[in-house]
Amino acid sequence: MAGILLITIVLFLVFALYLVIGIPYRVRRLLLHHYRNDATAYHQILQTHFRYYNRLTSAEKERFVWRTFQFVNSKRFHYVGLKERDEMPVLVAATAVQLSFGLENFELSFFRDIYIFKNDYFLTQYKAPIQGHVNRHGIYLTWPHFVKGMNGMESNANLGLHEMAHAYTFVNFVTGCGVDKHFSKEFKRYMKVAKTIYLEMNAGRKTILGHYATLNMHEFWAVSVEVFFENPVLLYHELPELFQSLAKLLQQNPLNAIRKKTLSANYSSI
Ligand SMILES: [Zn+2]
Repeated sequence: MAGILLITIVLFLVFALYLVIGIPYRVRRLLLHHYRNDATAYHQILQTHFRYYNRLTSAEKERFVWRTFQFVNSKRFHYVGLKERDEMPVLVAATAVQLSFGLENFELSFFRDIYIFKNDYFLTQYKAPIQGHVNRHGIYLTWPHFVKGMNGMESNANLGLHEMAHAYTFVNFVTGCGVDKHFSKEFKRYMKVAKTIYLEMNAGRKTILGHYATLNMHEFWAVSVEVFFENPVLLYHELPELFQSLAKLLQQNPLNAIRKKTLSANYSSI
């Protein structure tokens, strides 16, 4: 009797071990199999549409594609009023990957759903239609504005980066699911610098960040991320402390890519 019980326990333990180790291993193998099939298509989409990607080295590009692939496969994309196209999830995911490329935790794992709208939409708390927002149910953005920002067609603005910046702080400070240790620690230092500028701006100081950054500290953060990537040269010259704190926080410096270009043209004053 005791022998049967012992065998049952051993079999149960072996089965439990298979569930813990075996299934994640199979899932990872399956994921790697899909990645090998999709990597070239991802590369082509990013190379055609994504400015940030084209400034990376070959090794960085490989890492960028892998992260983008993982991000896409960890989310459900919903298309509201428009037809899905292959590049849509890739480019939205790439925006999140851009923001967190210097960090370890990039998946925004709290969020499962991303909604892409055809046009601006209404929320009950706002009088005017909006272009994007984030709440605990998902990340929401309008495709035309996302594309304009991605293509650098809106001065200092990038809707995708703006919403991903909100999502990143939401994950790190509200949900606690998908926290990046470096980011959550360093953010306090960023806030010290940011708060001073925010108060000065609310007292009348004009800066490259513009009026929208004065609404509250959440918007200040999201706008500062947009300008950091979209206009790093001006931000560096106008608000050097803010630029440095963002570079430290995100562990990347958009000026490096520009430096490489300007150095090759014998100009290195940035
Ligand atoms: Zn916002």
